Amino acid sequence: MDTIRLAIVGYGKIARDQHHPAIDANPAYRLSAVASRNAAVPGVAHFETLEALLKEGPTVDAVALCTPAGVRTAQARLAMSHGKHVMLEKPPGATLAEIETLREDAARSGVTLFASWHSRHAHCVAPARRWLSTRKIQRVDIVWKEDVREWHPGQAWIWQPGGMGVFDPGINALSIATAILPRPFHLIDAQLQVPGNCQTPIAASLDFVDGLKVPIHAEFDFRQVGTPPIWEIHVETDDGRLTLEAGGSRMRVDGELREEGPDAEYAGLYERFAGLIGRGQSDVDVSPFRHVADALMLGYRHPVDDFTE
Ligand code: NAP
Repeated sequence: MDTIRLAIVGYGKIARDQHHPAIDANPAYRLSAVASRNAAVPGVAHFETLEALLKEGPTVDAVALCTPAGVRTAQARLAMSHGKHVMLEKPPGATLAEIETLREDAARSGVTLFASWHSRHAHCVAPARRWLSTRKIQRVDIVWKEDVREWHPGQAWIWQPGGMGVFDPGINALSIATAILPRPFHLIDAQLQVPGNCQTPIAASLDFVDGLKVPIHAEFDFRQVGTPPIWEIHVETDDGRLTLEAGGSRMRVDGELREEGPDAEYAGLYERFAGLIGRGQSDVDVSPFRHVADALMLGYRHPVDDFTE
């Protein structure tokens, strides 16, 4: 396949920290342009908007949309209408229904749409799925806690409708859970802590159950201040306790280290995107996003102290 000429749209934290290095490291791609209002990359064609890039820029084959979800769907539709393949950062949109329109647009335009879930490419996600597939699961506990000021500095959009608050990282845990657990599960209770000056939760406590009544509990918290983040999933089975640590990059069974790997999530995403483009396929799985929508629909809201940056 020819080199994929790629544009990054929205050159913020994740574009800078992960997308750009992963693109540079993969010979299947060339970073041909960046569309971002306030950021540019030396030596790469720069435009303030995607519209300007499509009108005046060098030809690109694909775009990686690294903007907040609230603006991404319009950008995805525009790019696909110009015949560009699209990678969406997570979450795939601000509403569930808009993703269906994107799916249709991709099919109509004959391009690849990839709704990416970077955490699913963590080193131990596939081994965990394999290990669990032959065991009887009894209980699942998810703990996803980080300091919002460290991991989302200045991101005012996260507190606005569509920004999802603590579900912005929490959805990563749900993307892993939906990938490693053998059966679908659904929400039965959600307790949401919402700062008085925000539209989205700063913490959430969730209870799910699967078709065999296995309980799945999740604790998400943005107030993990002064201590390292906790990104862990614990699964009790009839044959031991599996633990995924460090966002899925480390796996233990009954406390004993079984697998550990480097952070190569975005390398995995770009490999998958190139594969999808090569095969003329799309990959749009909304299951993690559906759980968040359910939590926002079913959750009790508890007011807590205002959030200040
Ligand atoms: P960010 O630092 O705020 O970057 C997003 C960029 O998009 C901004 O720098 C901005 O660039 C552009 N943008 C913001 N609002 C816009 C608007 N209304 N219209 C057009 N462009 C706009 O956010 P981020 O952390 O990179 O997150 C972006 C997405 O990646 C989110 O969906 C997030 O869930 C996901 N993600 C983030 C992380 C993380 O650790 N931060 C990890 C994985 C995935 P300009 O001002 O230059 O246009």
